[in-house]
Amino acid sequence: MIGSFFKKKNKLVVRKRSEHCISRANIDPDALKVLYRLANAGYTAYLVGGSVRDLLLGRVPKDFDIGTDARPNQIRRLFRNCFLIGKRFRLAHIVFGRKVIETSTFRRQPETCDSDNGVYQTEDNTFGTPEEDAKRRDFTVNGLFYDIKTFSVIDYVGGLDDLARKTIRSIGDPDIRFREDPVRMMRAIKFASRLDFLIDRASQKAILEHHADILNASVPRVCEEVFRLFSYNSSSAAFKMLWEYKLMQDLLPDIHQYIEDSGGQKSVLWKYLAALDTLPSDEDGMSNGVRMAVLHYPIFLELLKKAQAASSGKRVNRQQLARQALQSAANSLRIPKACFYTAATLMDVQRRFTEPPRKGRAQRFVMNPVFPEALTFQRVLTIAEQKDSDKLDQWLEFYKQENASRRRSPRFESNDTDSADKANDSAEPEPVPQRQRRPRRRKTRTNQSQTTRQSGKGS
Ligand code: ATP
Ligand code: MG
Repeated sequence: MIGSFFKKKNKLVVRKRSEHCISRANIDPDALKVLYRLANAGYTAYLVGGSVRDLLLGRVPKDFDIGTDARPNQIRRLFRNCFLIGKRFRLAHIVFGRKVIETSTFRRQPETCDSDNGVYQTEDNTFGTPEEDAKRRDFTVNGLFYDIKTFSVIDYVGGLDDLARKTIRSIGDPDIRFREDPVRMMRAIKFASRLDFLIDRASQKAILEHHADILNASVPRVCEEVFRLFSYNSSSAAFKMLWEYKLMQDLLPDIHQYIEDSGGQKSVLWKYLAALDTLPSDEDGMSNGVRMAVLHYPIFLELLKKAQAASSGKRVNRQQLARQALQSAANSLRIPKACFYTAATLMDVQRRFTEPPRKGRAQRFVMNPVFPEALTFQRVLTIAEQKDSDKLDQWLEFYKQENASRRRSPRFESNDTDSADKANDSAEPEPVPQRQRRPRRRKTRTNQSQTTRQSGKGS
């Protein structure tokens, strides 16, 4: 058994209301309701995890999680809008419209044991004390509590000091904690890049040593973490760390090789990611498809150059090259199919923007559902390559005009008589690009007749 590092006592630090900056005005009102109801029923109720960290840093938390000594069934009795989820450890989801306040009973780190095949957790999570709950968490800055009764911040793990030092430090021995759950290595990178913190020396060393363990983690979880590295406009820093700490080699070997071959720190990839970081991550047209297209664009360019050199003037199949560029991510991360095809399409249609928009084809192009993403992707390339954005602005203007004119005439009376006729023919409310329209229209007719037949049968 190797659970001994948790036995080390950290000095408990309690910071009173006057000694920290967390104000209830910055806490979600529904999270406050849950905290108060638990506290009024006599339970301990803390705000826990990332929300305390973010509030102390003056940032807006993404979500508000709650820790309590009430057991799941006791929580359920207090809230009608509560659902218990999870098999190994039951968590309470307290639902307010579309918002969920995750409320969990304090638990302790399961016992771990080391074997030749890795580190295993031997039993399911069991209830624990607040101190044990703090110590089962990943990083010291994520192990802080805010107590609703006293309005104080409670620190069992040295998180306050690390917030001040801007350090991501593993709770417990990182050699063990990263082997127990290799995704923690990616989380260290996510927090360090997002908050502009440093990863402490021991954790750095442990990542360099155990990076290949990431291949033992659940692939969907790893894929999700890769997508999260793009949020908060710090993808350039995050992917650079992923490469420096060798995780890139395991997760995205083609990109790792590209970086090595194209100058490492000076690779052109960083320029594209830095350009991506300048755009709001929640803007219309920003998606994981766009992010994957940006990440793989330099590889695509290399493939395109080679294919053009070998084609002796013939047209090269850009769609195929784009898919080839994305193949390693598809294999190792199993990125969703929709994301894969969107990213490939964005690289393919990119050449459309070399011309200003003209009625006809351009009208169909801007009405393609992928157009906002294509425009965003193109914006990233323009910023990265410091190109003139004139044509892009014209496309944006054209897109806005087309949208406005379509909104004015719901029956689709546009200047494009060709498209309008076709749309009337097929009785489809929205025009679709030509390439997709023909097969879909036939399908619609078939479906319609089937539906009619079926409903006839039913009645
Ligand atoms: P974000 O702002 O991205 O939501 P977060 O810190 O809230 O960051 P979550 O993934 O929401 O991160 O997890 C909530 C809390 O659960 C974390 O702050 C941490 O204390 C704990 N936690 C999450 N994942 C792990 C893990 N793999 N190992 C240990 N503790 C974890
Ligand atoms: Mg969170």
